[in-house]
Amino acid sequence: MFSSPFKESIIWRAIEKGIVKINIYDLRDFTHDRHRVTDDYPYGGGVGMIMKPEPLIEAIEKIKEKSPARVILMTPQGKPLTQSRARELSQEDGITIVCGRYEGVDERVRIHFVDEEISVGDYILSGGEIPAMVLVDAIIRLIPDVLGDESSSIDDSFSQNLLEYPQYTRPVIFKGYNVPEVLLSGNHEKIREWRRMESFKRTLERRPDLLENAELTDEDKKLIEEIKKGGRK
Ligand code: SAH
Repeated sequence: MFSSPFKESIIWRAIEKGIVKINIYDLRDFTHDRHRVTDDYPYGGGVGMIMKPEPLIEAIEKIKEKSPARVILMTPQGKPLTQSRARELSQEDGITIVCGRYEGVDERVRIHFVDEEISVGDYILSGGEIPAMVLVDAIIRLIPDVLGDESSSIDDSFSQNLLEYPQYTRPVIFKGYNVPEVLLSGNHEKIREWRRMESFKRTLERRPDLLENAELTDEDKKLIEEIKKGGRK
């Protein structure tokens, strides 16, 4: 599941440049029975299977011998992943990500062997692999030197608790629709101001909850009041 996504674009470039290294472990390699079983029935009955603790813990402990990295369990019951948590994690020397399957992992794994639980959203996926890829991608693009200047992450949505401003590229008129005049003006101060304004408008319209945590200057606050009153269309 991991080989193809990790061989693309930014993640691959980071690996090629030697900035990150990704090791994938197959839990079946940490089983000791003929059928290499990693799941079992739930105590108390009910549908679905649970991931057995032994192979998981053997894997985690083996990885710990090599590097004492923080252990993160992907689970819909974890803290929702945010850009700011991804940024913090991008500063760690390494992390170990545990992917669940079936109905999830034995509770004792979660309680005693995991440092942090992360969710990628309020919906259920079939396994932790895709969530792990989401986490890895979000983190890697924030490691210094991974993104070139040409695609800096500073203006990205959520970096400042704001959604990003609208973007345009050529042609200047497409099927009769124009690029906003200000972007063609060459006036960098005006462009900066327009982008900030559009960022506020979008965030107010789509994600007003984000603004509560945004760092705003007095000037920003004035602009937002103006937008709320219907000004600066
Ligand atoms: N029965 C569990 C869900 C199991 S889903 C429950 O209700 O909590 C199977 C596995 O997929 C989980 O162990 C987890 O590793 C992964 N997974 C599913 N949805 C996820 C999400 N939103 N975020 C992170 N991991 C998720």
